[in-house]
Amino acid sequence: MKTIKVSVVTPDGPVYESDVEMVSTKAQTGELGILPGHIPMVAPLQIGAVRMKIANKTEIVAVSGGFLEVRPDQVTILAQAAETSDEINLERALRAKERAEQRLRERQQEHVDFRRAELALQRAINRISVAQGK
Ligand code: ATP
Repeated sequence: MKTIKVSVVTPDGPVYESDVEMVSTKAQTGELGILPGHIPMVAPLQIGAVRMKIANKTEIVAVSGGFLEVRPDQVTILAQAAETSDEINLERALRAKERAEQRLRERQQEHVDFRRAELALQRAINRISVAQGK
């Protein structure tokens, strides 16, 4: 089986590196599936899950936006934050979700930064679903 090298890198350092059969994720233009030999491209990513298929397993990394660079033998994901499913602290993500929802409920009040709260909520929901293997 042909493989492609994947690395997920954040400002704190590398989070994930492996040779995989397929990478799938959500770019801002829609769902992307990358196989070895893919044409070179660069795409902005949404807050979401990156799925790596290796043999019969799927490994999932939660990514908080960023960029994806594809070369025929290598996929590089540069993200502000990223965690593998076993690195995610589920309790922390549930608390972050609560806080963000509370802020959104107070959105009538001017001091609430609506967009910021919405992004925090998306990051929390993404971490919760990746930690739960979804
Ligand atoms: P919180 O409000 O809990 O800090 P956040 O979405 O604001 O969440 P980020 O700014 O995206 O957090 O990330 C800050 C750092 O904390 C990053 O290194 C990220 O990987 C890590 N991180 C955030 N949430 C979690 C979590 N639930 N489990 C493990 N690491 C996390």
